[in-house]
Amino acid sequence: MSLDSHIENVLWSQDQIQERVAQIASQITDDFKAAPDPPLIVGVATGAFLFLADLVRKIRLPISVDLVRAQSYGSGTVSNGAPTISLDLKLDVKGKHVILVEDIVDTGCTLSCLIAHLESKGASSVSVCAFLDKAVRRKVHIELVGDGKFYKGFECPDYFVVGYGMDFAELYRNLPYVGVLKPEHYK
Ligand code: 5GP
Ligand code: MG
Ligand code: MG
Repeated sequence: MSLDSHIENVLWSQDQIQERVAQIASQITDDFKAAPDPPLIVGVATGAFLFLADLVRKIRLPISVDLVRAQSYGSGTVSNGAPTISLDLKLDVKGKHVILVEDIVDTGCTLSCLIAHLESKGASSVSVCAFLDKAVRRKVHIELVGDGKFYKGFECPDYFVVGYGMDFAELYRNLPYVGVLKPEHYK
């Protein structure tokens, strides 16, 4: 059975995604081009891997890239509410302007935990760059650090979405677009 046949409807096509990612990358390039040091881009594994790869290739600054892993979801579609950092940064963030790159912000628990972690390690600012924002489901206010900014790709309606890095039970991350699964595949 083909991958695309598991999808009920497509929310953002590959072309729409690429166009929006280019806009965000040029916004980040503009915002940081006058800064004394280029930003450190930190992707949140695994979900942000495609967004991160597309975004960093379009930022026209000599940036560094690192990864963190935070786990707040099991294999289902409901957060367990208590994210833990299961892979820490390799690079030193002390005195750095960090941009955290996330696939999707839902309750905000994961990002808040990661921002606090980066702040405790001495980042001089923490910005967030989220591909999708499910603002209606927010439980925790996202408090940025220093003069950090919030970049976002699209507002996401309250559906559990897959693709462009985002999984259901570790499947569908490789879809080049974002969509909603047919009900029979959410099990
Ligand atoms: P939060 O801590 O903000 O509630 O959840 C953040 C994480 O939950 C995201 O980074 C993502 O991994 C997962 N998540 C939240 N909403 C969705 C969704 O609609 N689809 C998928 N695949 N993952 C989601
Ligand atoms: Mg994520
Ligand atoms: Mg997941």
